[in-house]
Amino acid sequence: MSDLQPVRGTRDLIGEDARRHFHVIETARRVASIFGYDEWSTPVFEDTRVFARGLGDTSDVVMKEMYTFPDRGGESLTLRPEATAGICRALVTNGLTQSLPQKVFYAGPMFRYERPQKGRYRQFHQIDVEVLGSDSPLADAEVISCGWTILQELGVSQDTVLELNTLGDRESRDAYRAALIAYFSDHKASLSEDSLARLERNPLRVVDSKDEGDKRIVQDAPTIHAHLTPPAAAFYDKLQEHLTRFGVPFKENPRIVRGLDYYSHTAFEFVTNRLGSQGTVMGGGRYDGLVEEMGGPHTPCVGWAAGVERLSMLMQAPPVAPASVVVIPVGDPAEGAALDVVQTLRHAGIRAEIGFRGNVKRRMERANKQGARAAIILGETEIAKGVAQVKNLLTGEQAEMPISELATRLK
Ligand code: ATP
Ligand code: MG
Repeated sequence: MSDLQPVRGTRDLIGEDARRHFHVIETARRVASIFGYDEWSTPVFEDTRVFARGLGDTSDVVMKEMYTFPDRGGESLTLRPEATAGICRALVTNGLTQSLPQKVFYAGPMFRYERPQKGRYRQFHQIDVEVLGSDSPLADAEVISCGWTILQELGVSQDTVLELNTLGDRESRDAYRAALIAYFSDHKASLSEDSLARLERNPLRVVDSKDEGDKRIVQDAPTIHAHLTPPAAAFYDKLQEHLTRFGVPFKENPRIVRGLDYYSHTAFEFVTNRLGSQGTVMGGGRYDGLVEEMGGPHTPCVGWAAGVERLSMLMQAPPVAPASVVVIPVGDPAEGAALDVVQTLRHAGIRAEIGFRGNVKRRMERANKQGARAAIILGETEIAKGVAQVKNLLTGEQAEMPISELATRLK
């Protein structure tokens, strides 16, 4: 066995794993395009400040999960742990803050130093949808509806529930923070160390704690609803109205606050009970301060990210690629004609390959083994007559066909 193994928390995508993975991304890409999103791609690593500022210094991700390293020039770089901060940085550095709204679809690898387990990796992949530059609850509803449609198209919507909450506007949140600090201060003795450290700076993060002891205390913590200002309450009502109109079922959950620091108003998660404790497949919300953190003007945004690995595990295996037609030249002189035939078939949209290893018998065996549907055997005498032997590998029947008709007959 080789002493070279994949790095802990990373995995190769081959065979069915690869098919599942790319099916998720292609489905999301197709749905997002129908919803009017354009796909962006940004670098895998960024100036560390993009994430340190963007995600907030009390988030788990920034406190303990970032892959940060000095490059050879001494600059501090970070492998992106999520897509949103890079997208907002790109909006600003590409001068797009005057061309709003921008509707962005994103897919790619993300990196977090976490304890690897089922559904949790150090290199994982997200699909991501963002509307940059709209403060209307219509945008929130549309973003969520897009996510729901992707889950439907993947055949997993019946296994997921949309849990919805609001974090209100600044004023609502300030009042809520004060209420939370008061409540948690009475329970300091039983809070985890992480939560104690966050209590003063960002008590909302305590509500999101995964610590079992914290969770018990959080159960009876106040919710934001009593603290919502009338405009914040109206925003939340509108969102629910639009979601209902879009036919997206949801359940209110006042404990959803999301892991990163930058959210306001809408916060939501699509959760499943089929993946154990890695139950959140998609999460997002509204964030109004992030573009400013990147040096741009105040720009209200809303979006979500979903874990491709978790969606891959939830869904049924997608169909395998259609079976190939394998073209087998008998002897070197037939190779040229074989290339012509394989080219013609490919132009006609037929998955076609050349059998290029071993004698004719070996090539036939190989075509059978790989599950090809037909083999086209091209010998010199046949080529001279303009015909080929076509063997149907599913039935075993063999027939002679004119080379000029192969594409239509095999379609
Ligand atoms: P969790 O609570 O599971 O740690 P999170 O709040 O850190 O999730 P987000 O930052 O909101 O997750 O990322 C959005 C989605 O990306 C998650 O809902 C999940 O599906 C996926 N995800 C996050 N971290 C990982 C990981 N380490 N491995 C695989 N998927 C992940
Ligand atoms: Mg996490």
